[in-house]
Amino acid sequence: GYLGFFLLIAALTAYMWRDTFDPESVRGARVLITGASSGIGEQMAYHYAKFGAQIVITARRVDALKKVVQNCVKLGAQNAMYVTGDMSDPADPERVFKYAVEKLGGLDFLVLNHVGNTNVELWKGDADHVRSLMQVNFVSYVQMAAAALPVLETSGGSIIVVSSVAGKLASPFVAPYTSTKFAINGFFGALENELAIRKSNVSVSILILGLIDTESAMNKIRGFTTMTAYPASEAALSIIKAGATRQKEAYYPWFHYFTCLINNIFPFMKDILISSLSAENMD
Ligand code: NDP
Repeated sequence: GYLGFFLLIAALTAYMWRDTFDPESVRGARVLITGASSGIGEQMAYHYAKFGAQIVITARRVDALKKVVQNCVKLGAQNAMYVTGDMSDPADPERVFKYAVEKLGGLDFLVLNHVGNTNVELWKGDADHVRSLMQVNFVSYVQMAAAALPVLETSGGSIIVVSSVAGKLASPFVAPYTSTKFAINGFFGALENELAIRKSNVSVSILILGLIDTESAMNKIRGFTTMTAYPASEAALSIIKAGATRQKEAYYPWFHYFTCLINNIFPFMKDILISSLSAENMD
């Protein structure tokens, strides 16, 4: 009875998550990666480079972007270029997108990955920070998607969106950040459905990441959690694979699928965990 049911679910899950990635599917692909001057975005640029893709990367820091481009060329990218842009400026998402499409002569993968800076702390009433973080982390993603859809329709391309467990579970100490990630999951989940309804050939992949060992994340969470952080390079590869195999939603590390599932079935478990925390010494 129950055991059979459990085994069936386990077998279906294993089948769903089998690795069907073919590196050839990204060779020569035209890719735009945002937030690629450091962290997971940088690692994605390196994987795409090794697979022989044509890459445009973007972020604000020109020196860091130049270094990443140099490394991409060494690693075997067919083409690697950068364009600076500040996603807090409402004009930049479209400008950056147009630059990439012009240079690449079209686009196959739009990888939305950048995030603005935010503190790990109790929210103390700053609504302006939430508004500005929404522009950087969320509205700019929507603006880029708007510009990209007609281009991706012609190539049968993909939008890859980097989200977080914090976009599935309301996460204390990062209220502004968790809000922007919920917004991403809501918008791109709906967009994916609408594209299916319209029988569009564009795919949307939403990546739900757990804690990853990037410098910025490690600096921020110090003192807040002892959770294991997973390697950025592996996270980056799992994002690329999910996008190339057109998965609608994927988790890295994989067990966060169950973190989210269990939280939905037993929401009171999170309340119990939270009640064991104290706000003292956390300001
Ligand atoms: P990093 O801080 O290492 O990288 C962020 C990137 O965004 C940088 O390239 C930065 O470049 C760019 N960026 C920041 N602000 C702006 C801006 N205003 N305009 C344009 N670009 C900007 O982050 P991670 O690599 O850790 O995170 C990457 C993605 O993974 C994010 O979407 C994050 O939410 C997600 N994620 C990360 C987790 C983690 O634990 N690390 C966990 C779950 C999800 P520059 O400063 O040069 O502009």
